[in-house]
Amino acid sequence: MQLLDTLQPSIAVPWWKRTASSLLQLVLEAPCPLCERSTTVAVCSACQRQLRRCQLSAAVSQQIGLRVFGWGSYQGPLRRALAALKYDHQPQIADLLGTWLGQSWQDIGRVNTNRLIVVPIPLHAIKQQQRGYNQAALLAERFCQQVRLPLSRDGLVRQRATEAQFGLSAEERQANVQQAFGLGPQWLKRRPSQSVLLIDDIFTTGATARAAANVLRRHGISVWGIAAVALAQRQSTCPDNSTYNLD
Ligand SMILES: [Zn+2]
Repeated sequence: MQLLDTLQPSIAVPWWKRTASSLLQLVLEAPCPLCERSTTVAVCSACQRQLRRCQLSAAVSQQIGLRVFGWGSYQGPLRRALAALKYDHQPQIADLLGTWLGQSWQDIGRVNTNRLIVVPIPLHAIKQQQRGYNQAALLAERFCQQVRLPLSRDGLVRQRATEAQFGLSAEERQANVQQAFGLGPQWLKRRPSQSVLLIDDIFTTGATARAAANVLRRHGISVWGIAAVALAQRQSTCPDNSTYNLD
């Protein structure tokens, strides 16, 4: 027994394994996209704690003729994280936020998920090429992995480039996105049998979501509603000490 006790630590973790693990740690470390501290995950644990303070209690509301579901309040750390995702080329932030949106969706637990198909709000091709990705599509991928819903990346297409929505009034936003969307080529041939759950990064006045839903409904496709990472109208205890002013 005594012999076994003495041997136990070296049996549990051999020296070469400890060295390999430290080297791997070094290789995998990268600066956190929000605070630049070294981390081996998409966003460091300190920033994750800050972001969690923006989380809202999971609930579905009815707005602009759609069900609206959101993970958090569009303030402080969450606002900075979404700005970094979109404007600082930090696509890995979508891995975390898409997964959290999915976990929160699972918490509401009363939606008949078998009858839904997920569609990200599309970006215009030129904008997507400049950014390198569509943040809503990245979020939708992670969300679908988490909740095991089917994803249609091109259920909708953006057929007209629109001005950025920030700084516009509600009426201007609606006019800006009218006729921005069209039905994707696959669905023009064959409509889906499920209801659509739209996914976007931010839900503000709902002008974008409504324009997207109108196109689907005009083609006889039912729309359940939209799930967004951040809701602009709802407040949380999230610290709003943002120095970013991108919208
Ligand atoms: Zn960080």
